[in-house]
Amino acid sequence: GSVFSSVVQAPEDPILGVTVAYNKDPSPVKVNLGVGAYRTEEGKPLVLNVVRRAEQLLVNDLSRVKEYLPITGLADFNKLSAKLIFGSDSPAIQENRVATVQCLSGTGSLRVGGEFLARHYHERTIYIPQPTWGNHTKVFTLAGLSVKTYRYYDPATRGLDFEGLLADLSVAPPGAIVLLHACAHNPTGVDPTLDQYEQIRLLMRSKGLLPFFDSAYQGFASGNLDADAQSVRLFVADGGECLTAQSYAKNMGLYGERVGALSIVCKSADVTVRVESQLKLVIRPMYSNPPIHGASIVATILKDREMYEEWTIELKAMADRIINMRQLLFEALRTRGTPGDWGHIIKQIGMFTFTGLNREQVAFMTKEYHIYMTSDGRISMAGLRSQTVPHLADAIHAAVT
Ligand code: PMP
Repeated sequence: GSVFSSVVQAPEDPILGVTVAYNKDPSPVKVNLGVGAYRTEEGKPLVLNVVRRAEQLLVNDLSRVKEYLPITGLADFNKLSAKLIFGSDSPAIQENRVATVQCLSGTGSLRVGGEFLARHYHERTIYIPQPTWGNHTKVFTLAGLSVKTYRYYDPATRGLDFEGLLADLSVAPPGAIVLLHACAHNPTGVDPTLDQYEQIRLLMRSKGLLPFFDSAYQGFASGNLDADAQSVRLFVADGGECLTAQSYAKNMGLYGERVGALSIVCKSADVTVRVESQLKLVIRPMYSNPPIHGASIVATILKDREMYEEWTIELKAMADRIINMRQLLFEALRTRGTPGDWGHIIKQIGMFTFTGLNREQVAFMTKEYHIYMTSDGRISMAGLRSQTVPHLADAIHAAVT
């Protein structure tokens, strides 16, 4: 027998498992609204034109070699990533108070940040929103932190439970870490307003709570890179400290290239140098150094004015298509007279709509309509097409009546 014969079958990942089930379904009308990846109006994955151009430039540059990057990644990429999230005129950057390291997309950035905190920060508790992206709990627990939740979403209003959020953060132990989605909260599509963020900031700073921003959708929510970074910039503008995990999976469509960055904003330049030295000790035994290709694409685009412009146009087109799908779905339900208030479909922000459909309704839609989505009722608007909206609206209508 195998020495591994006692290994038990692990369950499918709750999000990635949706695609596994979808692939097995032979129905021609099946729709996959589980994946968190952009699809075109034709239902195809999209490689941005500007990304193709950057790759051409890289291929044609024969001076480029395949040597290892430093432990912290591509220096240009790190500088440009910090500017992208904090703003090109950010005092924190000018004062050398930002330590940025290239990591394996958003997930890897969260993991490295989590492990750094577990090793060097005095408070090990991290508060994450309820609900949140399913991987947060596992990433931070394995990084050595203790995970607790704060109230975030109110099912009654399908909006923010702002009172609950403030109440929970005000009883958090002083110094606790608080994970905030920079924009386009996953899975709810519900974000605090800027005024609410300001109140959250005042509360957090007064209690010394440490913000850890997860920025997986910058530019993808509103179509504007600066608008989607406002929450982060509000916290950096007060001179206080924070962490930010950036991903280029969605906004540059670089999913499988695994390119992202962790930035730690510190109070002084000398602390920043020491923080960076410790980040290297977290990274080196984990994967030595990050991959070169994706970061080179990003750096090529971010440092060239004209390519950067082209990127913002392509990014806006993706965001606009998603916003358009929200409108079409909302109108399709109104046309059908589907019971209930579906205004949240057009109010929510980013890639996902948190429909409010329950586990049984989702199971019904999958069984009868071959529509695949996570059991919490989250649908990816990016996976929807004008053509598939009527089918989805029929399914929702049948599920709730
Ligand atoms: N955070 C959130 C909120 C996300 O939705 C995702 C992607 N689904 C990630 C982080 C990480 O994505 P990646 O590792 O592909 O950048």
